[in-house]
Amino acid sequence: MRCPKCGSLEDKVLETRQSKEGTVIKRRRECLKCGYRFTTYERIEEELITVIKKDNSTQPFDKEKIVRGIKLASKGRPITETQIRQIADEIERYLIDEGKLKVTSAEIGDMVKSKLRAIDPVTFLRFASVCDEFQDIKDFESVIKEIEKEKQEKSNE
Ligand SMILES: [Zn+2]
Repeated sequence: MRCPKCGSLEDKVLETRQSKEGTVIKRRRECLKCGYRFTTYERIEEELITVIKKDNSTQPFDKEKIVRGIKLASKGRPITETQIRQIADEIERYLIDEGKLKVTSAEIGDMVKSKLRAIDPVTFLRFASVCDEFQDIKDFESVIKEIEKEKQEKSNE
């Protein structure tokens, strides 16, 4: 954040508070250059959270990707859409509550895994086996699709 007094971009956060509705984060900051203290209000939108992928490229956080990844891993398992959405919501909530505006895809994968483990071990294992190797929901999607395709081809033989 730019210091209103000297224009420096270097500051440290003294205090972070969230509004009751959880949509605004209030931060008390101190400029590292001139020591001026100021307050910023940041609107929270999920696009503000950046996901750092294994190859160090970044993309905006997308809750739907989590939903899709779990859906694919839970195919044929007794997991409801509501449960899946709840997992994704909880992860988003956690990131916002912690003010974590940067998160690695591996961290997201770990969070999904710990939640799945408690709900359905089979889905957990499916998700973990692919996620650990690829670290990216998109890769995960394409691999699951390949597996599905192979299965279909085999059953067609
Ligand atoms: Zn300053």
